[in-house]
Amino acid sequence: MEDQQKIAILKNLIRIRSVNGNEAAVAEYLASLFRKYPAAKIEKINYSPGRDNLVVTIGGTAGKMLGFSGHLDVVAAGRLTDWQHDPFDPWITDGKLFGRGAADMKGGLAALVVAMLELLENQVELPGQIRLLASVGEETGEYGAAQLTDKGYADQLDGLVIAEPSVNMEDIIYTTRGVIDYRITSIGKTAHSARPQFGINTIDNLLICLSEIRKAFAKFDQTDPILGPITHNVTQIKGGEQVNSIPSYAEMTGNIRTIPQYPNRVFFAEFERILKQLNAQEKFKLAISYMYPQEAVLGRADSELIKTAQTVYQTIWQHPAKITGGLGSNDSAEFIRAKKKFDYLKIGPGSYTSHQSNEYIKLDVYLKAIKFYQRLAMEFLKQ
Ligand SMILES: [Zn+2]
Repeated sequence: MEDQQKIAILKNLIRIRSVNGNEAAVAEYLASLFRKYPAAKIEKINYSPGRDNLVVTIGGTAGKMLGFSGHLDVVAAGRLTDWQHDPFDPWITDGKLFGRGAADMKGGLAALVVAMLELLENQVELPGQIRLLASVGEETGEYGAAQLTDKGYADQLDGLVIAEPSVNMEDIIYTTRGVIDYRITSIGKTAHSARPQFGINTIDNLLICLSEIRKAFAKFDQTDPILGPITHNVTQIKGGEQVNSIPSYAEMTGNIRTIPQYPNRVFFAEFERILKQLNAQEKFKLAISYMYPQEAVLGRADSELIKTAQTVYQTIWQHPAKITGGLGSNDSAEFIRAKKKFDYLKIGPGSYTSHQSNEYIKLDVYLKAIKFYQRLAMEFLKQ
């Protein structure tokens, strides 16, 4: 395939506005590229109206299977005046292609797809199988990957490559922090602030709860050598009606970034214990809910997949990649729930500009990424 065509595919992907939805249009565009090749097995897995995951499998039936993972959604463009041009009408300046999703991660997704299309085009005999797992809703909870995992699409994997951006493909990431977003609500009773004894102050109760949480979390003091310590931040707090009323309702949200030393259930257990203890007291009525928690993913820096990736990387970039950890969660947190254990890595061609205005990808890195994914698949499947 000509470079111009590879770039055109990426531009077409960016033009489809798949902001937290509308992934069906992206899935259909990608499926249309694969339909030229009868050897490609194309499956669309509907999540909800307008939202399709896409799974494409190529290669024979024997041998190992390598997963190629990318998400079809992008985050909102934000303030349009912060962009030099229309974020959904990609443009190229100084060897960089700009547009929403260029880095996170229509660039990586396009590179995986083009890598597969070229193998089909050149009728390369694969020593195993490659499976594209293109998901909906990664940015808002990884529920596309969760659905694909539940349906068994990751059960045959021997390895998984996540093409999320890793600083222009300078880093190979083998371990990733998990995440717990939570909301605690506090229900009480309003009263005139001159007669607070008739009310139940929900903000006071919430603050008592928060101080208990902080005390309890102090024991999670281990530090991962790559990912560092856990972090916990209260990110929103709301409550109260007016300055001279006892607040009858309050809520707060918080975000915990976890490390492999602590599975998410240890945090859930602490929350449960604290809320139970407080709710046993007469004036407390607290409840907690979680928004798509993700486990930390512990990989191995010396896995076959990482070693192969490093060797292939050397042949393309003439220097070694940095093998390290990732601070944000991604679809791998869901795929690792598959029946069989497999090694995974994250490496992708986007820049630091994910979720920002004037998001871009370097075109030379994009084109090299295609080559890298192809060679990695061939080498990994051969072993
Ligand atoms: Zn992403």
